[in-house]
Amino acid sequence: MSTPLLKIEGLRAAYGAIEALRGVDVEIHAGEIVTLIGANGAGKSTLLMSMCGKPKPTAGRILLDGQDITGLPTHRIMRMGVAQSPEGRRIFPRMTVLENLRMGAVVTDPAFFDEDLERAFAMFPRLKERQHQRGGTLSGGEQQMLAIARALMSRPRLLLLDEPSLGLAPIIVRQIFQVIREINASQGMTVFLVEQNAYHALKLAHRGYVLAGGRVQMSGSSADLLGNEEVRAAYLEGG
Ligand code: ATP
Repeated sequence: MSTPLLKIEGLRAAYGAIEALRGVDVEIHAGEIVTLIGANGAGKSTLLMSMCGKPKPTAGRILLDGQDITGLPTHRIMRMGVAQSPEGRRIFPRMTVLENLRMGAVVTDPAFFDEDLERAFAMFPRLKERQHQRGGTLSGGEQQMLAIARALMSRPRLLLLDEPSLGLAPIIVRQIFQVIREINASQGMTVFLVEQNAYHALKLAHRGYVLAGGRVQMSGSSADLLGNEEVRAAYLEGG
């Protein structure tokens, strides 16, 4: 077996007395789309954030391609090839679309910028049309596209997406998920996707983990999880 691109072992993280992660194990191989599903408060966002250094894990290890990145500062983790599109998008509202994309590219060789920008605009033509508009004036769907495009500008090896479907109309969700599928298929981009929209996430991903109460409750291929009675009852029915 090859070394996994990401290996999380026994990860624990807390906010003061609240233990949000209670020993989480996850493995992702290069080229996979893996989703993390679970109810509100299960610890999904905390897992992605602690991979980027905040909150700092209290126990366990995070290995990127075999290298220990546990608790490193966020900028070092970014430079090592991890990019995140955080929950709530967090684009820079006063900066233009183009300036936002430049911010994503600060960790890469400037020689790549034009080529990477062209690729981002080919993926998201709306962003090209609106490149001189301030981020804060974009629609929710366009801001989500910008957040993903900005993350990709750092040429990551691992793309972390936290709830890209949050608050978006179904037609926009389908567009965003289609782009994630294309990025994976055409560039072999490895994606770790946190979603509350479990059905769509499992349809997109190759494998999934179910997080509950800060622990992995179940994991398996997307097809197995989609067919699993417990998963259906807890996360898919009515979805
Ligand atoms: P959601 O989909 O609602 O974001 P989640 O699965 O991502 O849920 P987390 O946001 O990781 O869950 O939260 C895990 C636990 O940690 C919850 O009990 C939550 O209340 C708590 N928590 C999250 N962020 C903080 C914080 N900044 N301070 C204190 N507690 C927090």
